[in-house]
Amino acid sequence: MSLIVVGTMAFDALETPFGKVDRIIGGSATYAAYAASNFVTPIQQVSIIGYDFPKEEMELMEARGVDMAGVELVKDKKSFFWSGRYHLDMNTRDSLVTELNVLADFNPVLPDSFKDTEFVMLGNLHPSIQKSVIGQMTTRPKLIVMDTMNFWIDSALPELEEVLRLVDVLMVNDSEARQLTGEYSIVKAAKQILKKGPKYLVIKKGEHGALLFHNDQVFFAPALPLEDVFDPTGAGDTFAGGFIGHIAATRDVSFNNMKSAIIVGSALASFCVEKFGPDRMKEITKKEIDTRISQFVELVSFDIELK
Ligand code: AMP
Repeated sequence: MSLIVVGTMAFDALETPFGKVDRIIGGSATYAAYAASNFVTPIQQVSIIGYDFPKEEMELMEARGVDMAGVELVKDKKSFFWSGRYHLDMNTRDSLVTELNVLADFNPVLPDSFKDTEFVMLGNLHPSIQKSVIGQMTTRPKLIVMDTMNFWIDSALPELEEVLRLVDVLMVNDSEARQLTGEYSIVKAAKQILKKGPKYLVIKKGEHGALLFHNDQVFFAPALPLEDVFDPTGAGDTFAGGFIGHIAATRDVSFNNMKSAIIVGSALASFCVEKFGPDRMKEITKKEIDTRISQFVELVSFDIELK
């Protein structure tokens, strides 16, 4: 059982209402791999790093079952760097700096051992890189999930629309869904996106939960109401990693199982935001995850008798 995770491994500088950090480990593939490794190993990581990416961070991920054979090291360039500042509500943020560095000429080459993997998580990256990974698979994966963000919708829309035709599930947040379609209504935006290729669409709404759309069906999962949210960075990637990790572990790609996967993703994301960067993801245990999933079940369960 294995799962490919494609995305960035990066340095982030973050500012939230609760503090500021200048340079911590981040990246879409970092968060997704930490989350998914709770359910399935090996995680076949596909990414690129510069000379400055700490060896200890690689070792920590390897110890969690992350196979780094698909991570390219560029010895004379810096790792991808991103900095962001959150607004007071923490649901919105501004990207302040995006330095592509090694990412500017990333051309992933999949190791042979990755080419027939059944589950693929295309984390946030340039869409032509996401497409190149799909093109290298020798067998069509059972499920391809794709994440993206406003940066790529702005700068690479035609390429992004091409990848949309090749994937099964798209994950975006509500503002990205609106940006992608020009529709204010989330339901209308979802209908339009489902015509662009993916059979399933997940729309994340930060502290307000997430929606899953498929044909005419909709499922909604709330986010756990948390007393303290320190840093939402990586929550989307963590959600994605938990979602596909659960599906890969159960090998069930039905709509019903995707509902459970949304709950698992939401539970994992609720840990991610409790500390700056991926720190909380490094320490969570299976027991903590199970307890939190039970809290979700309780949060949404009720009986009603209709007369
Ligand atoms: P999230 O909060 O889930 O949207 O993900 C935040 C992570 O995405 C950060 O750790 C960044 O390093 C990474 N990131 C930010 N911008 C980009 C981008 N344009 N492409 C890929 N990864 C990015």
